[in-house]
Amino acid sequence: MEAVETAVQRRHRRLRHRLPTGTANLPADPQWLLDRVLTYAEAAKVPVTVILDAQAYTARTGVPVTPLTAGDCYTGPPGDRAAVRVIYLSPVLLPTRGVAECVIAHEIMHARWPSYGHRPIAFQRAQELLDHVGAVAQLTVAA
Ligand SMILES: [Zn+2]
Repeated sequence: MEAVETAVQRRHRRLRHRLPTGTANLPADPQWLLDRVLTYAEAAKVPVTVILDAQAYTARTGVPVTPLTAGDCYTGPPGDRAAVRVIYLSPVLLPTRGVAECVIAHEIMHARWPSYGHRPIAFQRAQELLDHVGAVAQLTVAA
């Protein structure tokens, strides 16, 4: 039986990364994931810490992650936003840069705009980040 796609999953699926096809298909190794999150954090002007190990993330934040969790963002306990957000990414579930890019933009969106939840505006902001970082990359290539 086919799983029913939720509205949130559909909104996430509609995010478009701006990586060239050749780059999008490259493996997203751990160092690339760490560097890429920092690139997006800089673009969104939000300080983050990145953790690629599920147990370490749970130990740090108290938030459990399942083997199906590709990414998560911890912004602090309710009413007490952490100055530095903590982002978790699962290297196993993010095999290629193209897949990882959209999840990174999604989690950075949570870090930057915690109150947006998964509303359409949240995904609009995530897409703007993808477009912005993609445009900067194009300029770098052209220079
Ligand atoms: Zn989310």
